[in-house]
Amino acid sequence: MKQSTDILVFIARRNVTCGECHEELGRHAWITLDRTRGALCLSCADLDHLVFLPSGDPALTRRAKKHSTLSAVVLEWSRTRKRYERQGLLVEAAALEQAEQECLADSEVRARRQEREAARRAELDREYVARFAARVRQLYPHCPAGRETLIAEHACLKYSDRIGRTAAAKGLDEEAVRLAVLAHVRHAETEYDALLMRGYDRWEARAAVEGAVNRLLARWEGV
Ligand SMILES: [Zn+2]
Repeated sequence: MKQSTDILVFIARRNVTCGECHEELGRHAWITLDRTRGALCLSCADLDHLVFLPSGDPALTRRAKKHSTLSAVVLEWSRTRKRYERQGLLVEAAALEQAEQECLADSEVRARRQEREAARRAELDREYVARFAARVRQLYPHCPAGRETLIAEHACLKYSDRIGRTAAAKGLDEEAVRLAVLAHVRHAETEYDALLMRGYDRWEARAAVEGAVNRLLARWEGV
């Protein structure tokens, strides 16, 4: 039986490089710490599908955490207080929406959600999303309707966070698309996130869902 502890995400103080994809993440990057690889970007840590909920609304935070299969606590070092301080929580977008529904009586929450959605839309490069989505649809013709856009929006957000990514490098090649679809399937269609939350490391969890992932990808490919 795995022991369940909070997954921790740190806002880095110095320039960091991901120990897995070796991308330079710069200062203030959001990272997890891996026992063997050191700092990992949230993409490599499989946490980059989560959305940030800043601390400050205990009821919303409690509900969002309850509804989220996978969540992580975000910490930043306070120079004045000489300790890590909790900045908020990373949770699933759907869990946050559900929690907000439950808090809707509070009009401030509604205003904040509108702000967040506007910020998110502004970040998305629409043309890139459309091209990425078309590529997903081409490689996985049997993937459920609308899913290609979800996957593409996620990929676009990921690349918009990266330092030094040129438009040309915003991976539209087959391998980048496959990796994006694979990550989506793990999170959206398998027990993967629940296993991470129960303390499995990524390799154990990936091995556990590999069969299910491959079956589904084959179905989406139509082979
Ligand atoms: Zn990485």
